[in-house]
Amino acid sequence: MGQCKEITVETERLLVIRRRYQAVEDWCEDCGALALMIRPDQAAAVSGRTLRAIFTDIEAGTLHYRELPDGLILICLNTLLNV
Ligand SMILES: [Zn+2]
Repeated sequence: MGQCKEITVETERLLVIRRRYQAVEDWCEDCGALALMIRPDQAAAVSGRTLRAIFTDIEAGTLHYRELPDGLILICLNTLLNV
């Protein structure tokens, strides 16, 4: 039962994030699944961490990310929320 509630809360959190930050759903190679992706500055805001900490985790491979052709980086929310 508790598990169900947690999932509901997580989904609502994702909905809020999706709406507030206009997260895009994109394929995450590392998840091998569709994931919500947001920009690094947004990832910092969502997780309450610094932009520098976000980039450190990207380089450490802790956070999944996708580099777009124009150099923009999008971060996989699956990994961001699990850190
Ligand atoms: Zn991922």
